[in-house]
Amino acid sequence: MNPYIIPVFISHQGCPQKCVFCNQPNITGQDISPITAKWVASTIEEGLSRKRKAQRTETQVAFYGGTFTGLDTALQEETLSVVLPFWEEKKVHSVRLSTRPDYINTEKITLLRKYPVKTVELGIQSMNDGVLARAQRGHTSRDNLRAVQMLREAGFQVGAQIMIGLPGEDRREILSALEPLFALKPDFMRIYPTLVLKGTALADLYQKGEYQPLTLQEAVEICRDIFILGRERGITVIRMGLQADAGLEKNLIAGPYHPAFGQIVRAEVLKNDLIKKLEPFRGSDEVGIWIAPSAVSMLTGFKKRVLVDLQKKSAIRSLKVLTDQSLGREDFHVTRG
Ligand code: SF4
Repeated sequence: MNPYIIPVFISHQGCPQKCVFCNQPNITGQDISPITAKWVASTIEEGLSRKRKAQRTETQVAFYGGTFTGLDTALQEETLSVVLPFWEEKKVHSVRLSTRPDYINTEKITLLRKYPVKTVELGIQSMNDGVLARAQRGHTSRDNLRAVQMLREAGFQVGAQIMIGLPGEDRREILSALEPLFALKPDFMRIYPTLVLKGTALADLYQKGEYQPLTLQEAVEICRDIFILGRERGITVIRMGLQADAGLEKNLIAGPYHPAFGQIVRAEVLKNDLIKKLEPFRGSDEVGIWIAPSAVSMLTGFKKRVLVDLQKKSAIRSLKVLTDQSLGREDFHVTRG
């Protein structure tokens, strides 16, 4: 079950530089404010007050939006110490934080292990060194692999954040470039299509005609392929596309943004799976697709695009969508008639 997350946005703090695509206040809608113990504690209190009684899941405090392990050591300790009383009272069960691969080393891991840090999300972004350099990331694909390995060995749950559509990316290489990363078995990944946001270096490149974002269709197809590759390697995708937000939409200049991006990709994955499953029924009169009630909209939503496509590709005269409560959200089976 997914944890209940209390996000604490530390916008850009700890970052050694600004990556070309990044403008945290425009992404999260949160201002840059100095990290103080009082502010962290009140953010946690506020998050706990929003947690409904019925939600009995694990509660995690998540430091997002900056480079946590890039903060001064004293500030990291002070910030993590704020969580301790909540952890001792079992109101908070663990900490999650995001950071950069080049800000993981033995010393930093030793510090994190003194506190209830369970999950570390790494901004991998790309496994191509040329792409990382053009994005002004300041780290290499080797740093990516080293950080995942060190964190895995230290017993942390590791998340890999991957971006697609960065400047200089060659679409044909993405999947093969990801193989060494997936071989290290990160526990989960997030995939973000690159968006052009106000106040970024990427916006300048775009305005000068030096950067062309992916189309929505291209982004959906690439995400679908990464999702399927990850699934084959046992790596779950927990998010695709940035969280829909009025502030984000206001600051968006260009790029493959859709508020239901993840849903669209999941529908494409389902379509891909169904095309294979329907092959033996090609040319049939009537075929039923049995699916969980919560997954029906993936077939019938978006103007029935998936269903219409399936019908065309499988040459089946009538495709019926039927529900089965016992199926999981990603499961389905097909029957004749
Ligand atoms: S992408 Fe990460 S490392 Fe780069 S500026 Fe944004 S928060 Fe900092």
